[in-house]
Amino acid sequence: MSDPWAEFADDTRVVHTGQEPDAATGAVVPPLHLASTFRQDAVGTLRGEYEYARSGNPTRNAFEQALAGLESPGAPAQGLAFASGLAATDTLLRTVLRPGDHLVVSDDVYGGTYRLATTSYADWGVAVDQVDATDLAGIAAAIRPGVTKLVWVETPSNPMLTVVDIAAVVALAHEGGAIVAVDNTFATPVLQRPLVLGADVVVHSVTKYLGGHSDLVAGALIAPDGELADRLRVNQNSLGAVAAPFDCWLALRGVRTLGIRMQRHCASAAAIAAMLAERPDIAQVSYPGLTTDPGHPLAQRQMAGFGGMVSFRPEGGPEVARRLVESTRIFTLAESLGGVESLIELPAAMTHMSSAESARPVPPDLVRLSVGVEDTDDLLGDLAQALSIARGTQG
Ligand SMILES: *Cc1c(COP(=O)(O)O)cnc(C)c1O
Repeated sequence: MSDPWAEFADDTRVVHTGQEPDAATGAVVPPLHLASTFRQDAVGTLRGEYEYARSGNPTRNAFEQALAGLESPGAPAQGLAFASGLAATDTLLRTVLRPGDHLVVSDDVYGGTYRLATTSYADWGVAVDQVDATDLAGIAAAIRPGVTKLVWVETPSNPMLTVVDIAAVVALAHEGGAIVAVDNTFATPVLQRPLVLGADVVVHSVTKYLGGHSDLVAGALIAPDGELADRLRVNQNSLGAVAAPFDCWLALRGVRTLGIRMQRHCASAAAIAAMLAERPDIAQVSYPGLTTDPGHPLAQRQMAGFGGMVSFRPEGGPEVARRLVESTRIFTLAESLGGVESLIELPAAMTHMSSAESARPVPPDLVRLSVGVEDTDDLLGDLAQALSIARGTQG
């Protein structure tokens, strides 16, 4: 089904897409349906479309419609909600890969995606190659026509924030007979729409920006109406890693403020990246919004904003980085990202430990920020005071 809100701006659509007032009562918020099963009036005669909640649930359905409308405003698409981002990834990989197939993964991806591909799927006889997805010639060389079934990219990537040319990767992959999945967790559909750029399926960790409040774990796939979407829908039910109704309800609540949250995340992240780039005690800053960032020209074409994630390397090595992440007051030392509260972490020792043996291990002194919606000046001040402590110039 096409999104009836497609003609409106993003900030309107996040509030209304998939969130029509309840047909039965007029309630302006979609109700939370916890029932696991639905009465049949006669054998096989359902009152509506629901029969058993793994197969379908009205609250999950509302969230899935919102996802489809946001990622694919112009063309009919299916949204599918899962118990986690990795459950969504696993369902996608099991739907499109068979033993003997080949998977190409960009070399800077979420650590859990890398682990799933190189352990479970490698054990199952799927060959996996990691490539620098910013190098299109490298991608072209890695694709084995007819054998490579899937090219997986994450952009901006976690945690290095590299930007990959989605349309160019799609052209190369399709030429070689492979489909393209884009992990759109960092950008969200408000900043980037991979399906509109030709990707075959979008993956989300709903846990992050879509949920937005660090209070749920869920995942999603979105694919244009068609054969792939139908197979994913069958496997969502038969593999069974579905999102719980309450998590879908919370995620829908989160999505309503996605537009204004992303505006603030982007504005504060830009201010923080600019501040860090000017400091002599910072060796390197990665943020696609910085005009000096290698991904900037592409991000400007491909994205409507540069996101709320910033990575940087302080001078002084891993010890300074470790003291820094332990010295902030507003930024909380924790894994995950995309919530209203600012988080800080050391990926090499926390979220990305499993990337140590990968083609591109995360630098041990890399600090990753998830910039929240607190006051921008408070956040700038917090980083400045923590840097003073970390450098030993105070406290
Ligand atoms: C967190 C994350 C995932 C995995 O999602 P879960 O909800 O934790 O299973 C996948 N991709 C990216 C980019 C992530 O940040």
